[in-house]
Amino acid sequence: MNRIFADLKTSVFETMSRLAREHDAINLGQGFPDGAGPEDVRQKAAEAVVSGWNQYPPMLGLPELRQAVAAHYQRFQGLALDADSEIMITSGATEAITDALMAVVSPGDEVVLLQPMYDAYLPLVLRAGGVPRFVTLQPPHWRLTREALEEAFTPRTRAVLFNNPLNPAAVRFSDGDQALLAEFCVRHDAIAICDEVWEHVMFDGRRHRPLMSFEGMRERTVKIGSAGKIFSLTGWKVGFVMAAPDILRVIAKAHQFFTFTTPPNLQAAVAYGLGKDDAYFTGMRADFQRSRDRFAAGLADLGFVTLPSEATYFLNIDLAASGIEEGDVSFCQRLVRERKVAAIPVSAFYAEHAVTSVIRLCFAKRDATLDAALANLKGLI
Ligand code: GLN
Repeated sequence: MNRIFADLKTSVFETMSRLAREHDAINLGQGFPDGAGPEDVRQKAAEAVVSGWNQYPPMLGLPELRQAVAAHYQRFQGLALDADSEIMITSGATEAITDALMAVVSPGDEVVLLQPMYDAYLPLVLRAGGVPRFVTLQPPHWRLTREALEEAFTPRTRAVLFNNPLNPAAVRFSDGDQALLAEFCVRHDAIAICDEVWEHVMFDGRRHRPLMSFEGMRERTVKIGSAGKIFSLTGWKVGFVMAAPDILRVIAKAHQFFTFTTPPNLQAAVAYGLGKDDAYFTGMRADFQRSRDRFAAGLADLGFVTLPSEATYFLNIDLAASGIEEGDVSFCQRLVRERKVAAIPVSAFYAEHAVTSVIRLCFAKRDATLDAALANLKGLI
């Protein structure tokens, strides 16, 4: 068996969701909203299934969806993308990341990874033969520094895998941070694989600026988006990859042999959804922001110290600042067993020098769910 995969632990999201089921706990671990998602978008998918649109779609994605993706990113981020040569549809953002790594990385190439990082990144980089170079970010600000990038980038750097906004930190990188990263990519002739799945889930009036729009990055960025996050339908697994034609062509070679296509009915529904008016996107952000504020206030009342949450579905508790000396893994184990609340230990997002005093909770839930979780946490500190 392949050693990299044989030695892997089961993903922390699956593990915590299973523990939540076993202990009949409220699952604030794995990040998914508990709402049904926009009814009109679901209705479109249902119509496409029933009307018989169920055979293989074109390998790169339905033309109408690729056009909708182009129009969407022009509208929200000012990007001019060619629907035919610069956009491909995948079965979720994770497939897009996998395709991109397989297409870009050759054995021995160095890949810069920013920790905390989504748990799929490192195994995929290693399986592609890449050599990871870590940049370690620290709470509460999780900021990039020039010194850290100087150390991580070398003449062998082929790519950087960049998640912005950043899961699990729940922050977005400033324009200054992104300009700094762009400077290093240009200087080292590296490709930026940008996982921007949280681009619409940002709060307090913040707006996403894609790394692709920074100087020198248009031709060296692979931008990845997710319909699951845009429409709060995380199980749909419909992703988008955007890159200059020379790069996208090679990524498509990976896609054609990994999944080949993505269900056409869901693609049709996403094409419809991307054209929804601004009120949908504003409303989605406002709803999540309200949940964030409700949950943050409740946690503060109970004595927990939380870190700033600028984006994503997550709110992080700083255990040490809350007066809890226990490590994040053991605290989460105890929480699910004794308090019936599942959370994610943030150390799971590090390969080395892990931050062990922060836990991640998903607030993208109904008020009743959040209130029940708060009631369970009462009296803990
Ligand atoms: N993106 C989700 C999270 O961060 C997890 C998805 C998964 O379970 N693989 O919670």
